[in-house]
Amino acid sequence: MSKVKTRFAPSPTGLLHIGGLRTAIYSYALAKKSGGKFVLRIEDTDQKRLVTGSVENLKNSLIKSGLKWDEYYVQTERAKQGIYLKEAKRLIESGNAFYCRCKPKNPKSEGYSNILRDPCRSKDYETGAIKLKVPDNEVLGYHDFIINKEIFWKTDLVADTTLLKSEEFSNLPTYHLAVVVDDHAMGITHVLRGHDWMPSTPIHLLVYKYLGYKRPEVGHLTDILDPDGGKLSKRKGSVSCEVMIGDGYLPEAILNYVILLGWAPKDNREIFSLGEFVKIFDPRGFQKSNPIFDRAKLDWFNGYYIRQKTDKELAKLFLEFLPKNVDYKTLLRITPLVKERLTKVSEIGTLAGFFFEKPKVKQKLLGKNASVHLKEAITILKKLREWNLDQINSVLTGLIKDKGFETGSFFMDLRVAITGSRVTPPINESIVILGKLKTLRRLKFVLQP
Ligand code: GLU
Repeated sequence: MSKVKTRFAPSPTGLLHIGGLRTAIYSYALAKKSGGKFVLRIEDTDQKRLVTGSVENLKNSLIKSGLKWDEYYVQTERAKQGIYLKEAKRLIESGNAFYCRCKPKNPKSEGYSNILRDPCRSKDYETGAIKLKVPDNEVLGYHDFIINKEIFWKTDLVADTTLLKSEEFSNLPTYHLAVVVDDHAMGITHVLRGHDWMPSTPIHLLVYKYLGYKRPEVGHLTDILDPDGGKLSKRKGSVSCEVMIGDGYLPEAILNYVILLGWAPKDNREIFSLGEFVKIFDPRGFQKSNPIFDRAKLDWFNGYYIRQKTDKELAKLFLEFLPKNVDYKTLLRITPLVKERLTKVSEIGTLAGFFFEKPKVKQKLLGKNASVHLKEAITILKKLREWNLDQINSVLTGLIKDKGFETGSFFMDLRVAITGSRVTPPINESIVILGKLKTLRRLKFVLQP
């Protein structure tokens, strides 16, 4: 297989969306599988859409997912070198583009309308914005290597599109010119992008042809759908990598889940690290139907990856979701008690917060025999010389037997009094870690009138 070079070309307009991450992963895998290069290119020429901090954020999200780029470019930097202006002028010289002097509707917006056949095309202006002169009665087509189909357009439906803005707007290129010039200049062999970019493709096909460039292979990915229908949106929760990590998802779980959004291996295997995925990735494995973003499945992956962590690794991750002053050694002892129960790392707060802070106990959570249960527990626990699991287990089971308590309700009262909650890690193990002093104090506190 000859070396493939791909690029991920985000516009810095916000956080890295799940769909963007998916494009990046597949592009990365396609290149790396062949021993080729993966390029990160920041497409920032549409100045009015820029969001401060996005570039750093996009880079961080890619790094967290393990997607390291081999080359890095920023289009506005390249624009300063006159790269796009030069190519746009070549198009003017060859008669395939023209200067347009129409003023943008809103002078601040930099936006030129792309009318089907712009009257300026026959005016022979010598300055202005540069627009593509789209021919009539031609058919444009290409073979999409993801969809695996020939796709055609009649040029009569393709508008005279702006390629380069006027001097007033620093001669910045639009996406349509910059993407073609750069994919060529950077030696990109395969372009992978979201389905919503499909309408731009005929414009690019013309620009490739008129500039005399060899066209890369182009492939469009299916849209990710919301379970309620329509394109994936924020309605049901976060869909950007950064917010999801902040919500307690692990980058490796997000990565694994995203890999399977519309692609499947031959053997239906589900668990992949990035390296394993690169090895088995085959672009013929793309499914035709649109994948649905299934949070329950993502949660399953997250739980799986949480359980793959060592206790040390997990305890470190917990720190982000707990008060600053928690004791790391205690946290390390708590970790094995909660590991099996977590779906998200952030749940550590609700599940184990009681270790670090005295909980508020709602009386209504206690059973009708709570005061007898707790009084007896205090008496017997107080006598314990050694505070360990064996001792605690044995005196409490002995107590239940002697007094004829109902096991379930006894332990529920103990649990609620100590933790404030009915759902917690195993209670006897928890009080070992909590220690004698705090355990007795909490039990007594609940009994106070
Ligand atoms: N800059 C476009 C984006 O923000 C990239 C489209 C492409 O990959 O050609 O998604």
